[in-house]
Amino acid sequence: MVLTIEDVSVFCKKKGFVYPNSEIYGSFSGFFDYGPLGVELKNNIKNEFWKRFVQQREDVVGIDGAIITHPMVWKEMRNEGKFNLMFTTQVGSIGSNISYLRPETAQLIFTDYKLVQETARKKLPFGIAQIGKAFRNEISPRDFLFRSREFEQFEIEFFVHPNKVNDCPYINEVESMKVNVITGENQKNGKEHTEMTIKQIIDKKIASAWHAYWLAEYYKFFIDLGIKKENLRLREHLKNELAHYASACFDIEYKFPFGWKEIHGNADRQQFDLSQHMKFSKTSLEYFDEETKEKVVPYVASEPSQGIDRAFLAFLIEAYNDDKERGNIVLKLDPRLAPVKVGVFSLVNKLNDKAKEVFDFLRKEFNCVFDKSGSIGRRYARADEQGIPYCVTIDFDSLEDKAVTVRDRNSTKQVRVKINDLINVLSGLLSCKVKFEEVLKLVR
Ligand code: ATP
Repeated sequence: MVLTIEDVSVFCKKKGFVYPNSEIYGSFSGFFDYGPLGVELKNNIKNEFWKRFVQQREDVVGIDGAIITHPMVWKEMRNEGKFNLMFTTQVGSIGSNISYLRPETAQLIFTDYKLVQETARKKLPFGIAQIGKAFRNEISPRDFLFRSREFEQFEIEFFVHPNKVNDCPYINEVESMKVNVITGENQKNGKEHTEMTIKQIIDKKIASAWHAYWLAEYYKFFIDLGIKKENLRLREHLKNELAHYASACFDIEYKFPFGWKEIHGNADRQQFDLSQHMKFSKTSLEYFDEETKEKVVPYVASEPSQGIDRAFLAFLIEAYNDDKERGNIVLKLDPRLAPVKVGVFSLVNKLNDKAKEVFDFLRKEFNCVFDKSGSIGRRYARADEQGIPYCVTIDFDSLEDKAVTVRDRNSTKQVRVKINDLINVLSGLLSCKVKFEEVLKLVR
């Protein structure tokens, strides 16, 4: 049976991933609440993004800007008709200034650009990242989390010298990488996507080197964390789709049950935003280039704009397996994303005290659950449905050999591990530095 978006929303509600907002009052269209498992999964996704694209890079730093900001910040949006459609709010007492809930996180990056550049002592090329809520009043909510009025974004503005849009020092790391691409040309001719290398995209001049590099990095992120190659593609925007400020734009699309849809937008925004803010604020946002001794307005070679909720939905759908043999859903989430890392069970109630002891020391390291209700088979099934990658079972032998059984969610294979080695073994498995098969071999 083909999975529908309704199946996904029913599953999410039943398991505590996502609920309709204020359901007791009949719910509120376009708004959702993340439940106990959902908040963990969402936080893990955000952490993986932040770790990979901010903390592990020398050339990107983060900010956390306000949701409500000076109304002048949105002035440039008047050009796009969006201004009147933003959520309004009143700042101060009645009759005071109307302000707006931000429809994207990016503008705050531009208004803080100079302060960040100076205080973090960054030289071009460098990027500024932000994760936060965004609000869009004008949309018609549909397809569950895919299109909502309140959602979260992870955006980066990557600034380069305007003459160095093709000087990307890391390009050789990604040049040979193969990606599915539906070019503008393909779309016009009614053709499907084809496989291309990043080098071919650059050679075709449909993206600059920096732009292509960032597209490749995000594409890799999704593949590394479990999205299958056949379910991911880049879509080049057609010329008539391009916003007036963008010289090129690509989406990363995921093959949802309702078709190929955008999960990530990535535009080459040129110098548009900083120039606009310079004009309206009458403040110079120029950058002094030490080498050439000239002032330049930095160029945004890439604006990776990532919806967190759409990434959440894609990872969840990809992981969803209706396992007929087991008779339950198995959520094969990457262990780094899994909301709960370890389930701790006692084989029989008599062993609960010992199991609780193991649970208490494991929970200091990992997000764990201690489940003692129902048969062991039922508990494994419950763990599978929550996407728990590893379950630890304490049996009568554990009292003698000071070891437990570790069960792998994906294969259901089991291995005996000494309690003293548990944290080490689980840390390796959960960080994906060690594969379960390797542990099996080691123990044999
Ligand atoms: P779409 O064309 O699907 O409406 P968009 O082009 O308006 O999306 P952008 O403005 O490029 O989207 O926003 C960047 C990212 O923010 C999108 O790729 C998506 O992941 C996320 N996003 C945008 N709008 C919504 C929404 N209404 N609900 C959930 N996520 C959204």
